[in-house]
Amino acid sequence: MQARAAIVRLRLGYTTLRAHLHRLRLSPDPFCPWCRTTPETIEHFLLQSLRFHNHHTAVRSRLFAIAITTLDLPTLLGASGIHPSRQTAFLSLTCAFLRKTGQLPRL
Ligand SMILES: [Zn+2]
Repeated sequence: MQARAAIVRLRLGYTTLRAHLHRLRLSPDPFCPWCRTTPETIEHFLLQSLRFHNHHTAVRSRLFAIAITTLDLPTLLGASGIHPSRQTAFLSLTCAFLRKTGQLPRL
């Protein structure tokens, strides 16, 4: 249940990532604490941050293994471009990523 709530919050943009907190005036800046000059958006967190490069690589490998070559935010959040029969698999990958990065409780 916690994972499903995390996915919904990611889809809505309600996170504790700095870009969102900065919009709410709860963070002095919007930047990723690891990359420093890039805003810590959901897309950056899930797809680009150097902090989670190994996790990003693992997700890509798992997607390629099931012949999925699209790796973007709508795909990872199960929001579009995915046949309904595969949405659960994508959301499971995203939730696994959140758990491995320690971010699931934080969202
Ligand atoms: Zn970063």
